[in-house]
Amino acid sequence: METLKCEEIIRAVGGTLISGEINTDFNNISTDSRNIKEGDLFVPLVGERFDGHNYIAHSLEQGALGSLTQREMESANDKVLIKVSDTLKALRDLATYYRQKYKIPFVGITGSVGKTSTKEMVSAVLSKGFNVLKTQGNFNNEIGVPLTVFNLDRSHEAAVVEMGMSGFGEISRLTSIVKPDIAIITNIGVSHIEKLGSKNNILKAKMEIFEGLNEKGLAILNGDDKLLYGLNNLLKFRTVFYGMEEELDYRAYNLESLGERGSTFDIELQGKEYKVRIPVPGIHNVYNALAGIAAGIELGISPEKIIEGIEEFSPGKMRLNILNHKGLKIINDAYNASPQSMEAAINVLKDISCEGRTFAVLGDMLELGEISHSAHEEVGRYAVSKGIDYIVAVGEYRKNIAHGAIEAGAGEERVFDFKDNADAARFLKEYLKSGDVLLVKGSRGMRMEEIVNILTC
Ligand code: ATP
Ligand code: MG
Repeated sequence: METLKCEEIIRAVGGTLISGEINTDFNNISTDSRNIKEGDLFVPLVGERFDGHNYIAHSLEQGALGSLTQREMESANDKVLIKVSDTLKALRDLATYYRQKYKIPFVGITGSVGKTSTKEMVSAVLSKGFNVLKTQGNFNNEIGVPLTVFNLDRSHEAAVVEMGMSGFGEISRLTSIVKPDIAIITNIGVSHIEKLGSKNNILKAKMEIFEGLNEKGLAILNGDDKLLYGLNNLLKFRTVFYGMEEELDYRAYNLESLGERGSTFDIELQGKEYKVRIPVPGIHNVYNALAGIAAGIELGISPEKIIEGIEEFSPGKMRLNILNHKGLKIINDAYNASPQSMEAAINVLKDISCEGRTFAVLGDMLELGEISHSAHEEVGRYAVSKGIDYIVAVGEYRKNIAHGAIEAGAGEERVFDFKDNADAARFLKEYLKSGDVLLVKGSRGMRMEEIVNILTC
């Protein structure tokens, strides 16, 4: 972060100085009292379990030069104390102010699945032309987005920011901070349908990203997603679509799978045909790469450089990591799961060639509300329709997955279900043979990596 003056901060957050020196310069903003650095401004947030206000004194001892507070306090000795009405809002206001100091292109990314993967792909492409600031990990919420913005400094030439949500109004608040020049929506799925009620509502919630887009901004949308393509000609911004359908602006064709080594496709860019190799498997990564290509071209990077950026891409932790262990191939995709990403991962399992048998080890997909039972049945059906040999279902909805699998024609000897990871791992350890390949995937709350850990220890 570039230095922020106490006076600027007070103005940006609409606060009142209670104690300390108005000429203080701050080097960084921190919301975590365990991680304070010399010169920080501490922003105490009030959570369900912790109240950051209890750690103000500790933060100041650790080297923070001041703190915000929404609690009535008299002073922070000789250090800066700024009273605000709501520290979370102040964090947002300060990030909004700080962002406006930068006249570089900002790319905002939202969507039901693939935000982090797309953020990484877009950043890999843009780093071929710019020094890019990107969201670290999955820091995509009302705390993560401001903290991402504070990481900006004068060396950055572009920023790529992931924006997540679980209900209405959240993307709206995030986009008002980021004010993206380019807004990317990856797809409209059913994640968070429990809270939002319908896919149309999910679309509406994602569309809040446009509220922050300026008039000259650009929307980059997945054109193979029916709901998103339905926005064609309806938005007041320039809009480009990517996907595989004929009429789209950035279209992949002649797709070829290279198994676990990834895939290739052709694309026409600026009147010339190019072959693109993506070093990560799965059609879903073709979509993520297309979003990266579109952003790269629109920001003036040459097709050759863009393709180089994609070839250098590497996936994040627990997102479709492929491990080889004692003759077994394990696709660890335990990071999270939704119906869409389950299907994407099952496609990858099918794609990866092996002499042995294929196992889909599938855990619960959480927060699906009313559609929970049917969505799990559908995943079981999908795996069998793709020719997966064995279905191993784990968790509360295991019977639904198993039922879908059997309904789709799997013999009962190919379908197993277990109430928890330990039981499933015990069975797998016995049953798997060298040459087998398995996918392990479920929602974050299922901690399916436990199975991978047991199998590989
Ligand atoms: P979160 O809401 O947790 O931030 P996210 O939207 O950032 O999730 P990722 O973390 O990129 O999504 O990917 C989640 C899972 O979805 C991964 O396991 C990956 O296999 C799969 N995935 C990635 N990109 C896509 C895509 N474009 N379409 C469908 N599935 C995808
Ligand atoms: Mg993410």
